[in-house]
Amino acid sequence: MSAIDVDKNWQLLINGEWVDPAAGTYDVIDPATTKVVGRAPEASVQQADDAAAAAKAASVAWKNTSPAERCAAIGRLADEVAKRSADWVPTVQAETGALKKITETLQVGGPAVDRFRYYSNPIDLDESLAPVPVAKGPLGPAGLMSARVKHQPVGVVACITPYNFPVTNVAGKIAPALAAGCTTVIKPAPQDPLGIFLLGEAIDAAGFPPGVVNIVNGAGPEVPAALVDTRNVDMISFTGSTGVGAKIMENGGKTMKRLLMELGGKGAAIVAEDADIGVAAQAIATVWGFHSGQICTAPTRVIAHKDIYDQLVETLKTFAGFMPVGDPNADGTIVGPVITELHRDRVEAFIKSGTDAGATLVVGGERPELDGYYIAPTLLADCTPDMHVVQEEAFGPVIVVMPYEDDDHAVALANDSDYGLYSYVFCGDTNRAYGIGQQLESGNVGLNVIQPHMEAPFGGFKMSGVGRDRGKWGIEAYSEIQSINWIG
Ligand code: NAD
Repeated sequence: MSAIDVDKNWQLLINGEWVDPAAGTYDVIDPATTKVVGRAPEASVQQADDAAAAAKAASVAWKNTSPAERCAAIGRLADEVAKRSADWVPTVQAETGALKKITETLQVGGPAVDRFRYYSNPIDLDESLAPVPVAKGPLGPAGLMSARVKHQPVGVVACITPYNFPVTNVAGKIAPALAAGCTTVIKPAPQDPLGIFLLGEAIDAAGFPPGVVNIVNGAGPEVPAALVDTRNVDMISFTGSTGVGAKIMENGGKTMKRLLMELGGKGAAIVAEDADIGVAAQAIATVWGFHSGQICTAPTRVIAHKDIYDQLVETLKTFAGFMPVGDPNADGTIVGPVITELHRDRVEAFIKSGTDAGATLVVGGERPELDGYYIAPTLLADCTPDMHVVQEEAFGPVIVVMPYEDDDHAVALANDSDYGLYSYVFCGDTNRAYGIGQQLESGNVGLNVIQPHMEAPFGGFKMSGVGRDRGKWGIEAYSEIQSINWIG
């Protein structure tokens, strides 16, 4: 495993060349120690445009390669990532603030390699429609009308991603995009971009043609905004906040951008009176502290049946006692820092807004006496649907709890949200859980389980997004559907 090289000269990847950033560099900070991890390259708007132009120039040749050839390149990339990613751990851990174990298993290697391997097998979604007889008419002769439904690549995709799981998130975008025949420009989050440049080295070694994958970066909105504006980009694949997603939809409308939007979430966890409280609390608590709650799919809005409400609150409080906050490198740590000082302050203000509005602070709320940007796991009980803490996401280790009367009430509370990304039902009766689950306005629902099926379609209802990816839906997301019609 390599040590961190703080003085490494990070460069942008444009048209197959590593180039110096025209707008200089900025410091990437380790949120656990507040020390500098590296100096991230900052592209100029011109370089963002150059990257988009390179992706455009490469797009026809890449689209015309066979699926087998494209998939072979993605397979080589899987091998390169598998070979190299252990060396990426120190840098990615330091820039994300993730626990060492989480970095090793989920930030690099594992899920990214899995994504590349999955899309290294061609997925053919094209189909032929059964011929239909047509009568002679003003548009042509009688005959049997046939059609082939083809999936054509959208073209150039700008992949704009958030902090939290940078390498995994980018892999989840470029793997299906490249397999579908698209070329790409990656724009990672400003807070933790260095792992993406390490991924760029693996991309380089895997031997993609110049311009097929480009990487630019910027601390502010100018570089990603340029990718949204340019006509050389056909699609924005965005993961991030709903606020920025809305801006991208508005600005991208001028050039009719195709959009895949994975946005914010405020997942409900309905816990029925016959649920196994231990299982439910364990599941909720796992994601509560996991990556300091910076998880879009976390069940942060607990909706508990009135008969087990007190018991669940008490059990969650007990779990908080087993979630030590601190150094991500220390063995016993469960909760590391949040990404920046600004975000820590934002989450603290969020918690205060809850107690100011009348929520009961059951546990947490205080700032741990540590150097980095830490927040103790916080539980707010006796919440009501009108509270800001119930309606908005914290993207930190904060859970709110509300009681419910019956199943209809639980569904109404769960659906009383602008978001609809991932919700959960914990219930002793799977049939009843299924009945509740399908009434939830949520793109994804877990029944008595937190982990997702990685090939099931993923995406959000309402303000949580537009479109779906993963599995075969990943190929669909990066495809235009073309009908080719003929008569015979
Ligand atoms: P963010 O929206 O602030 O930033 C995301 C990306 O957008 C960054 O790369 C940023 O540089 C870029 N950006 C900023 N301004 C832009 C503009 N005007 N035009 C184009 N791009 C612009 O999000 P964040 O703070 O990095 O991440 C946290 C958010 O991401 C949370 O809301 C979380 O729920 C969401 N998220 C969603 C998912 C999902 O799968 N649905 C996964 C992870 C995170």
